[in-house]
Amino acid sequence: MDARIGVLALQGNVSEHIDAFLLALERMGHGSSSEVFEVRNPADLAECNALALPGGESTTISRLIDKNELFGPIQQFKGGIFATCAGMVLMATDVADPRIHPLGLMEMAVDRNAFGRQKDSFEADIAIAGLDGGAFHAVFIRAPLVTATGKCVMAVSRIPQGIVAVESGRYTALAFHPELGGDTRLHERFLKRLVRQFPE
Ligand code: GLN
Repeated sequence: MDARIGVLALQGNVSEHIDAFLLALERMGHGSSSEVFEVRNPADLAECNALALPGGESTTISRLIDKNELFGPIQQFKGGIFATCAGMVLMATDVADPRIHPLGLMEMAVDRNAFGRQKDSFEADIAIAGLDGGAFHAVFIRAPLVTATGKCVMAVSRIPQGIVAVESGRYTALAFHPELGGDTRLHERFLKRLVRQFPE
């Protein structure tokens, strides 16, 4: 499968995700036929078979998704979605903040800013089920927590406060920032899961 990875580029950690996916593709030995590019409108999205929803400010990203007429197209998008931090908030079915228009693609409840304010940001080495190579050094910045999951959503990492990584078919959502720090194992794992589902 040639990867055509779009990074939603309305607000937030866009260039960091582009760099992390390029590095992940290189480490996976993908040829130059795979590409990573910014997505700002439905025509860009139509070019992708994978989409990253970056961290940033989820209220702002949610508003801009609506404004750019991307809400329906992302909901109907047939490819994989890799959602981090603010992106995880947007993937949920249940967010207790009326400013968020959640995509509802993963059956879960998410608590925004569950750890408090910016000063309560932290880093931790966390265990992720099935991830080779040991603990993942995770950066949590005003991070969300998953407080409940539906039957198709698998919690793959928990810390004492709650669930911080979930997978469901072609979707991955992480409360932290895997695009920071140069460890691309989670980007690679997402792409490998996609290849298994879309071998062509
Ligand atoms: N707290 C932010 C929000 O919900 C997310 C923070 C982040 O993406 N780093 O918008």
